[in-house]
Amino acid sequence: MDEAKLKQLRARYTDREAFDADDPVLIAAARQVKSPEGKRALPYSGVATLLDLPQAPSAAGLDIALIGVPMDLGVSNRSGARFGPRAVRNIERIGPYHPTFRGVPKGAVRAADIGDVPFRSRYSLEQSLEDIEHFYGDLKAQGVRPLSVGGDHSITYPILKALGKGAPVGLVHIDAHCDTMGAYDGSKFHHGGPFRLAVLDGVLDPQRTIQIGIRGSSNMFWEFSHASGMTVIYMEDFMRMGVEAVGALARKVVGDEPIYISVDVDGFDPAYAPGTGTPEAGGLEAREGLALLRSLAGLRVLGADVVEVAPQYDPTTNTSLLAAQLLFEEFALMAFGRAEGPAPALK
Ligand code: MN
Ligand code: MN
Repeated sequence: MDEAKLKQLRARYTDREAFDADDPVLIAAARQVKSPEGKRALPYSGVATLLDLPQAPSAAGLDIALIGVPMDLGVSNRSGARFGPRAVRNIERIGPYHPTFRGVPKGAVRAADIGDVPFRSRYSLEQSLEDIEHFYGDLKAQGVRPLSVGGDHSITYPILKALGKGAPVGLVHIDAHCDTMGAYDGSKFHHGGPFRLAVLDGVLDPQRTIQIGIRGSSNMFWEFSHASGMTVIYMEDFMRMGVEAVGALARKVVGDEPIYISVDVDGFDPAYAPGTGTPEAGGLEAREGLALLRSLAGLRVLGADVVEVAPQYDPTTNTSLLAAQLLFEEFALMAFGRAEGPAPALK
């Protein structure tokens, strides 16, 4: 090692504290992370919240509300996603600094964990979907953008109903399954069909919808995706195209108009996300999913979710860890949704 360089480094860094840097971007980020005394909160202390954001009793005054939706009455196989929000709240040390945006999303917007959607009944799926639609309708009326943790994927239908009313949204959807299935065992409401229902209700624009990571033995049920004009990227397509090309295609499909982002953790390989109700071998790698979401930077994201985390099947907590990271990526996309400053509030 060059002696002069070493001397210079010693002079500059020997007594410097962790938050002390020369890069103005890092200085600004540090200011938002540490207390006035130069301290950082213990990541394992306090009451657990989504992304370690402050708790708020309501969405009043917020730009972005983080919400738990602990409801899994729509699953076709293993239940347990009702425990997803709690499991994701328990993950510590996600953010607050985002390395590719080079910023602290919570410093760019007013955001808080406002708790869980209140449900009238633990037994009725239909009633629960109504409760969700009502809750998100209120958020929309207040101009607050929702960022949610499920719950099974049936929750996304009433969320889209609330957000897309009068102006259908586009969609970036990561999943092993298209979730555009018809009625099943006498119910059209289940976690295999939210996006068919949303299109038929006129709240989701299929031409501006891309579904990524599709695979497995349910593929016979996805005719509606193709018939309605959705862009479907099967795992084989994903492997052939690569994450960069898929990200570019996603941007092209959804365009500049408002979009929703929905991530089912079963879109990822069970090696990364075993804790889910309907795992399918051969899925996305964690790093591919993060790269894919980061490639959507600058789009106008009205809302987003991460669903289908079922912690009973997640002994390592890797699924919850990945889900919390995905939630943080979505949060960053929403907070930095425009090249300059925060994204405009939802009208
Ligand atoms: Mn799904
Ligand atoms: Mn799925």
